[in-house]
Amino acid sequence: MLEGLNAFKDVLATAGRVLISTHVNPDGDAVGSLLGLRRVLRAYGVAVTAVLADPVPVKYRFLADEPVPGPRDDELARSTTTDPFDLAVFIDASELERVGEVAERFAQWCRPGAPLVNIDHHIGNTGFGDIVIVDPGRASSGELVLEVADVLGVTIDPVTARQLYAAVLTDTGRFQFSNTNEASLCAAGRLVRAGADPQTIAERIYFERPAAFYRLLGHLFEHMTLQAEGRICVFAVSREETAAFFRDGHYDSEGIVDFTVQVEGVEIGAFLRQTGERIFRASLRSRGEINVRAIAETFGGGGHEKAAGCTLEGEMPEVRERLIAAMTRSLE
Ligand code: AMP
Ligand code: MN
Ligand code: MN
Repeated sequence: MLEGLNAFKDVLATAGRVLISTHVNPDGDAVGSLLGLRRVLRAYGVAVTAVLADPVPVKYRFLADEPVPGPRDDELARSTTTDPFDLAVFIDASELERVGEVAERFAQWCRPGAPLVNIDHHIGNTGFGDIVIVDPGRASSGELVLEVADVLGVTIDPVTARQLYAAVLTDTGRFQFSNTNEASLCAAGRLVRAGADPQTIAERIYFERPAAFYRLLGHLFEHMTLQAEGRICVFAVSREETAAFFRDGHYDSEGIVDFTVQVEGVEIGAFLRQTGERIFRASLRSRGEINVRAIAETFGGGGHEKAAGCTLEGEMPEVRERLIAAMTRSLE
């Protein structure tokens, strides 16, 4: 870790322009860490551009001190032809492919031989890149941005503190998931000291959710069926259902999966959401001993032991059965 941090500092010394990005379907940690890292590197005097394959979700837009362009941004294309990036940094991505379209295109935007830096906290991180700053003992990537700031001697201002606090808050499930530890709470304390306001941040992320979110949740609980003698709970929504609930198109189902393992007796849960004609995203959670990352990996996904995800292809009933079968096997 320290070796990686020092190597990062060394390459920053000669890097004129730096590209940073994070994973597709960005969560609070991805958004907060990316924005926080942008500010920390700028404060250090580096010219940094953040790019995101998917837009910042509505509920995290309050964190953005400046917009984050997508990979097809005109200005990005223009600037990189005359002045390519000297360094790329991907944060909160367990593998290069998780960065989506940015992973496919970033090599074109960088000068040949530009180093790639991998900053992450997933236990299954593939170790991609030239400089690897990965600590699976940390609950969030936001905490790793604090480490970067310390190595660079950058002071955290209140705007950065808010972004990084949101990162730690969301990835620890409001300091309630099993990854919550002394380090995450100390980081949060530091960020509050630096100007983050816990109440406002929690309010914006958790207490201003669209009514459709609660209607969908009610619908899912009303039709809930448990599997494996009540040890498995799977919620599934088709594209049509999603459209019927979120009529304005601002889809927000983050955290629904967490409810599956809040049912008495349930050990593992999943939220299956149709995202394309034959494409389904599965979010998995575990309460207890079962490792859901192993289940996600059988479908080419990954994550953590107690929170993981993957993509499945097929028709709804069959995909749901396939997922339940894999979950059931993991109980044996
Ligand atoms: P989520 O259920 O979307 O909150 O994701 C839970 C965890 O699983 C996060 O740490 C993600 O980074 C990881 N994850 C989700 N989807 C995938 C995927 N398709 N491939 C690898 N890891 C994933
Ligand atoms: Mn993430
Ligand atoms: Mn994370």
